[in-house]
Amino acid sequence: MRFVLAGQARSTSSVMGRSADVVIFGGGVAGLWTLARLKALGYEVLLLEKAALGGVQSIASQGIIHSGLKFAIAGKVSNLAQLISAMPGKWRDALAGGGPVDLSGARALAESQILLIPKGLFSGVKAVAAQKILGRGAREIARENWPEGLRLSGFDGSAIFMDEIVLDMPAVVRALAAPYMDCIRKISEDEAADPLGFLEKSGIEARKVLFTGAGSNHAIACRYGRDKGMETQTRPLLMGMMKGAPYPLFAHLVGNGEKPVATITTHTAPDGSLVWYLGGQVAERAKEDDPGAVYAAALDAFKRYLPKVDLSQVEWAVYPVDRCEGKSKTDGWMPDTPTIHRAGDHLYCWPTKMTFAPMLGDMIVQIFEEERMMPGNLTSDWSFLPQVDFAAPPWGRCSWTKDR
Ligand SMILES: Cc1cc2nc3c(=O)[nH]c(=O)nc-3n(C[C@H](O)[C@H](O)[C@H](O)COP(=O)(O)OP(=O)(O)OC[C@H]3O[C@@H](n4cnc5c(N)ncnc54)[C@H](O)[C@@H]3O)c2cc1C
Repeated sequence: MRFVLAGQARSTSSVMGRSADVVIFGGGVAGLWTLARLKALGYEVLLLEKAALGGVQSIASQGIIHSGLKFAIAGKVSNLAQLISAMPGKWRDALAGGGPVDLSGARALAESQILLIPKGLFSGVKAVAAQKILGRGAREIARENWPEGLRLSGFDGSAIFMDEIVLDMPAVVRALAAPYMDCIRKISEDEAADPLGFLEKSGIEARKVLFTGAGSNHAIACRYGRDKGMETQTRPLLMGMMKGAPYPLFAHLVGNGEKPVATITTHTAPDGSLVWYLGGQVAERAKEDDPGAVYAAALDAFKRYLPKVDLSQVEWAVYPVDRCEGKSKTDGWMPDTPTIHRAGDHLYCWPTKMTFAPMLGDMIVQIFEEERMMPGNLTSDWSFLPQVDFAAPPWGRCSWTKDR
C-alpha cells in the first residue's frame, strides 16, 4: 500500500510532518516499551491506542517481574525459567534510570515476592529444580525474619525469598509514556479495526508498522493477508480481589499442582484500603465462570494454608481478562519467549509476559539492525490527532461486594 515505504527512509514525504519510521498500534506495555526503546535510538515513532494507555492486560497485570523460580518448580519449562531469570536485572536498571529505557519515574511496590511452600508439599523433583535457581538470589528466610503478617497468618512451611520486584503498573505505564506524549495518540475503535486504512486516510507514511494490540493482532493480520504461519492462543483468567486486606503480602502460595494455588500481590484502592489481587490456580478459569467459584477457591486456600488470616470484613470483586500470546508448544503454558510474527513491513508482537518487554524491545532492535533499518532523520507533528487517557487498574474501577 502507498503509505509503507520499505527499506531506507525518504528525507521528505508527500504530506510534510506526517512521516514516521515506525507506527505502533497498541499502548500496553509492549507498545510503550518499544516506543521508548526506539525513540531513545532516534527513530521517529507514532503510537496509536484505541482505548486507554496500559490498555487491557498490562494495567491488569500483577506487576511481578518473574525470576523463573515459579516456572522451574513446575519442572516443564526450563528454557523459560532460564531466559526470564535475566529480566529482574533489566527492570532494576530501568528503574534506576540506567539501561536503554528510563523508568526512574516509576516505582516498585515490593522488592521481592515470597514463595510459600507448605510443609509436606515440596516434592524431591521440585526441590531439585528450586535448588538450581536458589543460587541466583533465592534463599530460605529464617522464620524469625518473616514479615510480621506472614508470622501472624498461621502459615506452616518454608518461605523462600525470590528476587522478583513487583511493579506499580499504573506508575510504570505513566513513566513509559510521559516523555513521549507528543507522539502518542488516540484512534477510534472503527479506525483501529482497519489500521492501514486509517494511516492512508490520514496521510501518514510509515516504513514499519508494529502491532502490539495483543488479542486484536491476529484478526488484523488476517485482514491484510499477513497471517500465514501465525499461531496464537488466549488463556482466560478470572482474577480475584479482596479489599480491606489486613497487611501487604506479595507471595506465591505453592500447592499440589504445577502452578501456585494463589499468587497474591497488594495494591491500593482509590479509598486508600489495601487490595489483595489473586492470580494463580484460583483465577485459572473461564471469564464467564461464577465469581463465587473464585471466592470459594481463595477462601479454601487461605483456610488451609494461612488459617489465621481474618477475611471476615473484606469486600470482593473479580476481574475477567484474557492473556493473549503466541502459541505455546506446551499445552496450558505460555511460550518461552516473546513472539514476533514478521510479515514484510509488518511486525506482530506479543511480549508473552510483561516481564519480557525488555527482551521484546531488544528483538525488535535486532530485526531493524539485520534489515539495516536506521533512523530516517524524520521530524513529524502528530498534534492533528487526539490525545489518549490512561487506563485505571481493575481495583480502581470494579464493583465491590461482601456477598460470597
Ligand atoms: C491478570 C493478569 C496478570 C498478569 N500478571 C503478570 C505479571 O505479574 N507479570 C508478568 O510479567 N506478566 C503478567 N501478565 C501478562 C502481561 O500482563 C502481558 O503479557 C502484557 O501486559 C501484554 O502486554 P501487551 O502490551 O501486549 O498487551 P495489552 O496490555 O493488552 O495492551 C494491548 C493494547 O493494544 C490496544 N489495541 C488493541 N488493538 C489495537 C489497535 N488495532 N489499534 C490501537 N490499539 C489497539 C488495546 O486497547 C491495549 O491497550 C498478566 C496478565 C494478566 C491478564
